[in-house]
Amino acid sequence: MFPIHRPRRLRTHSQLRRMVRETVLTTNDLIYPLFAVPGEGIAKEVKSMPGVYQLSVNKIVEEAKAVYDLGIPAIILFGIPADKDVDATGAWHDCGIVQKAATAVKEAVPDLIVIADTCLCEYTSHGHCGYLQVGDLTGRVLNDPTLELLKKTAVSQAKAGADIIAPSGMMDGFVQAIRQGLDEAGFQDTPIMSYAAKYASAYYGPFRDAAESTPQFGDRRTYQMDPGNAREAIKEIELDIAEGADMLMVKPALSYMDIIWRVKEASNLPVAAYNVSGEYSMIKAAALNGWIDEKRVVMETLTSFKRAGADLILTYHAKDAARWLLE
Ligand SMILES: [Zn+2]
Repeated sequence: MFPIHRPRRLRTHSQLRRMVRETVLTTNDLIYPLFAVPGEGIAKEVKSMPGVYQLSVNKIVEEAKAVYDLGIPAIILFGIPADKDVDATGAWHDCGIVQKAATAVKEAVPDLIVIADTCLCEYTSHGHCGYLQVGDLTGRVLNDPTLELLKKTAVSQAKAGADIIAPSGMMDGFVQAIRQGLDEAGFQDTPIMSYAAKYASAYYGPFRDAAESTPQFGDRRTYQMDPGNAREAIKEIELDIAEGADMLMVKPALSYMDIIWRVKEASNLPVAAYNVSGEYSMIKAAALNGWIDEKRVVMETLTSFKRAGADLILTYHAKDAARWLLE
């Protein structure tokens, strides 16, 4: 019995495979994360993330130019302030590190889209994503007072030149609060990319080295989502859509492909996937050991996020991927 259908027919030639390929990664899909630190001429490699650096503002500008020249449309900025306090002053101050970096990048590379990560954990002395009750040692962030800080942070980032505001703290009502703040300040055209379904994940480990944002006590499980939950992600995205989100993000990506898919199916907004630090570090470590073919594994991974439904991918591999796409 010979089969009538032989799917292998369409795989016989590389040009033919190219013609029937369903998902194609392009540089348009990529967003490159950058970590801004105070100082001058600083480029300090993050130990757990080979190839990723904490950069002073002048170095961020150089990097932004390189990113733009590779055809990557956007960066997302994280900041490591000189000082941290309970009010996360460094997050919302007009002279904050992200504000300085955003202004400098927009001045030097006006066409590069600058996304500002809007959270407080890099700026609070305790490392949590908002206000805590005095004496709290569990990390149960006070939701509503934190919204005021997030609003202030978003407005100051927009003032500094950020094109997109990306709140990541998983506070209830944060999209609405930020939308209101931006509108009142005259930024009604500044879009919000909400970290809508962000999980309490061990894959963030290396990022916390990079952003120096490890909680001093407790963990983030009272605000970030439980990895076992999928329906709850839909609840979260529906709320964010109702509150005015323009784009939705799923974070992490690799262990959450089903969530990317569900979010894509459940909404008409662009979906971003955050290929997080731990996912990056695992590939880098294996590649540095000679255990995998880095280029092929990276391209396959990024293409898979897109196949799962991601319109945009935040990834530390962005520059490498953009280079490989040019080959
Ligand atoms: Zn945070």
